[in-house]
Amino acid sequence: MSEHLAGFFTPWILCALILALHLVLPARNVAGYVTDPETGEPLRYRLNGLLVLAVTVGLWAALSAGGVIPWDLLWRWRWEGLAGACTLGLAFTLLIVLRAPPTGKPLLAELYLGRLDNPQGLGGRVDAKMFLYLFGAVLLELNLLSFAAHHHLSFATPSPGVTLHTALFTWFVLDYLVFERVHLYTYDLFAERVGFKLGWGCLVFYPYFYAVGLWSTADLSGAPPTWLLVVAALVFFVGWSFARGANLQKFTFKVAPDRVFLGLFRPETVSDGDRALLCSGFWAISRHVNYLGEILMATGLVLALGHPLEPWPWLYPLYYLALLLPRERADDRRCAAKYGPLWDAYRARVPRRIVPGLY
Ligand code: NDP
Repeated sequence: MSEHLAGFFTPWILCALILALHLVLPARNVAGYVTDPETGEPLRYRLNGLLVLAVTVGLWAALSAGGVIPWDLLWRWRWEGLAGACTLGLAFTLLIVLRAPPTGKPLLAELYLGRLDNPQGLGGRVDAKMFLYLFGAVLLELNLLSFAAHHHLSFATPSPGVTLHTALFTWFVLDYLVFERVHLYTYDLFAERVGFKLGWGCLVFYPYFYAVGLWSTADLSGAPPTWLLVVAALVFFVGWSFARGANLQKFTFKVAPDRVFLGLFRPETVSDGDRALLCSGFWAISRHVNYLGEILMATGLVLALGHPLEPWPWLYPLYYLALLLPRERADDRRCAAKYGPLWDAYRARVPRRIVPGLY
């Protein structure tokens, strides 16, 4: 097989490997937030993302250390890999959308947004959304490690910025997988369908575009000053505290409404007697402080690279702005429709959408 072809099929092979590991490795079996429309019961999920990541990265490291593959293989094959992932993403979209019954919307809209809400297969052992996110997270991590390896192999004095960027991004991936269950309570799970947006998004955009910072700077020399590394890590972890704190506090509230979060934040709410919305702790700062957190994390990741004047890495935080600003508006409309006057009361109590005091 030619190198190009091997590179093209690498994401396909990894997809098969990750699916096989997801199926055979032990998993937590948990109830989600979304209910099955037929039974009214919460959908169930098998979650073992952290284990799948550990085994895949372990395999990659063992094969590289044993000289079977070079450490920077995914860097060498990045363009072929991207092309292969694009094709996989398109094939997946066609398969998942066209095999499902039409919803009555225009075909292009169905292809983009999907027809099925929460497809599960193999006797409920695989949930399409959670598998897509798992694949995206694992391939992103392998890409980052491979791109960082390329930098380390290319320069006698590698940049500590590359190491910091890779370490922070690894934290981001691990954080998602450690709290995989919390993701069951997010917008993608309860409000989106599986089509091009989610399928191509997880198979291509997540593992390749999120690595745009390293992709565009791994070939550059020069070490960032220590103060910039400190600022980058601070911005990243302040962002992480906002995002993880808010998501975890809401999750705690949904599963145990009276529990004091982290032993610190008593759950204060606005309520109509029937339903309640949190307005203490992270949810008192703004109505989507978690989105601010994601944007700060992305900014910290760019700063860590130590090339703040390079334009390409900035595409990553810009993407979050483009994704999350409209998403906040859409979620606001959804909540206004769902909660009615209660949502107005909540908006009056917590007036800012994302940035405290500003927006
Ligand atoms: P949220 O987690 O903020 O979820 C919004 C939903 O939470 C609302 O629809 C409502 O649903 C419920 N809710 C809103 N306000 C309250 C409140 N005060 N009290 C109780 N429930 C409330 O947003 P997302 O699901 O969009 O995002 C989840 C996380 O994923 C965020 O951190 C986001 O930044 C992150 N994310 C990360 C991405 C990445 O690539 N890294 C991409 C996209 C998102 P209901 O009441 O019906 O339960």
